[in-house]
Amino acid sequence: MTEEVCEKCGLPSELCVCEEIAKEDQEINVFVENRAYGKPMTIVSGIDSKDIDLDDLSTELKSKCACGGTVKNGQIELQGEHKQKVKEMLLEKGFSEQSLILGK
Ligand SMILES: [Zn+2]
Repeated sequence: MTEEVCEKCGLPSELCVCEEIAKEDQEINVFVENRAYGKPMTIVSGIDSKDIDLDDLSTELKSKCACGGTVKNGQIELQGEHKQKVKEMLLEKGFSEQSLILGK
């Protein structure tokens, strides 16, 4: 039987709460930027890519918001204005309300 052990805390994966703690600790900014031609982009920044797989998360966000997007410089960028949807989804995923900062 092989048991997976978390590299961070050394506990077996099933006991590890690093990802939960990471979600509590982080300060995540969700804001909208206007890009070229006045197109809004929703930016999600501050998620620690060591703890959370940004590619996976962006895939989920893109499907929830039905939009295109990308991961760039450790930030998730989504085409369009999706602040509320992003917030809802991050809460569903276990991020705490206090860690989410919604910009303008
Ligand atoms: Zn751990």
